[in-house]
Amino acid sequence: MQVDLRSDTVTRPTPGMREAMMAAPLGDDVYADDPSVNALQDKIADLLGFEGALFMPTGTQSNLCAILAHCQRGDEYIVGQMAHCYRWEGGGAAVFGSVQPQPLSHQIDGTLSLEEIEAAVKPDDAHYARTRLLALENTFGGKLLPMDYVRQATALARDKGLTRHLDGARLFNAAVAQAETGCDNPGAGGPPQGERGGNILAEARRIAQCFDSVSVCFSKGLGAPAGSALCGSRELLSRAHRIRKMAGGGMRQAGLLAAAASYALDHHVVRLAQDHALARRLAEGLTGIDGLVVEPPQSNMVFVELVGPARARAAGLLPFLAARGVLTSGLYRLRFVTHLDVDAAGIEHALSAMRDFFAV
Ligand SMILES: *Cc1c(COP(=O)(O)O)cnc(C)c1O
Repeated sequence: MQVDLRSDTVTRPTPGMREAMMAAPLGDDVYADDPSVNALQDKIADLLGFEGALFMPTGTQSNLCAILAHCQRGDEYIVGQMAHCYRWEGGGAAVFGSVQPQPLSHQIDGTLSLEEIEAAVKPDDAHYARTRLLALENTFGGKLLPMDYVRQATALARDKGLTRHLDGARLFNAAVAQAETGCDNPGAGGPPQGERGGNILAEARRIAQCFDSVSVCFSKGLGAPAGSALCGSRELLSRAHRIRKMAGGGMRQAGLLAAAASYALDHHVVRLAQDHALARRLAEGLTGIDGLVVEPPQSNMVFVELVGPARARAAGLLPFLAARGVLTSGLYRLRFVTHLDVDAAGIEHALSAMRDFFAV
């Protein structure tokens, strides 16, 4: 049995998705006449409440186009130290846009402190880069940013004259987690507030509406082979469109991919709750193993710290698991990600391989 828990990007298109791709009407999206791309852009923009959207080959390009559309050369964006659009995108905003990042460390729940955001906004003075943008990420490292926090941080940014971008690569995981907790500030342990029982799309929209632009990935938990969308105002998107072209992201019969993304929006959003449930099941099982400190998962990612004698054996673990058909990543801190191609039997198989390794 093969269980690939390295990432939710490893999914293969389902038969239904392949059928939707084969049936997709196509055109040339550089001429803006690919009907499947146009339909997808309208669908995601409507879903999240924006004037429009642009289909992008990757989340990296989507974030890059967003940052460069928000900022000019010599501007800066405030961003988390471990945020994807700072840490994991090759420094693209600085390399291609001469936009300087102002990274801030994350608090334990993944948020950036409001005080530090405020203090990082530079006065209008020739010594400083012009602070232009706040970029947040949700989910971040598998964690749901509390809705109260998202509101406060984005309101603060607006008051300081900054625009707001959300790297929502896993926005729908955030929406599912938020619908599950039914509470605006899970960290505070308060009672569920209101009636939001399970309306995942409404939650996605509620998060997205705090921002001027939102990037979502179809190729993560949603299970499409490639593609992201950048949502925003017409004006922002006209700048992003030019940048996408410069970045080489003007695709032609991209409707093949857009059809997969559209299928994913129709069929793979609500089911994300299953991934979250399997992540909880995995975390529960791992919690019983000596030498593992397991973070209770909030979405589809389980992080496990190896401590004590378990830590000394870390180097042997991944090869042992791989030999049993279980793929994961990390060394002292492991990451297990659930997705469309993982089922309950796969999770039990991964658990038994983990138990066997640490039993001897
Ligand atoms: C994967 C990811 C991206 C980038 O997406 P690619 O399609 O791999 O370029 C951006 N942000 C976050 C949070 C991600 O997880």
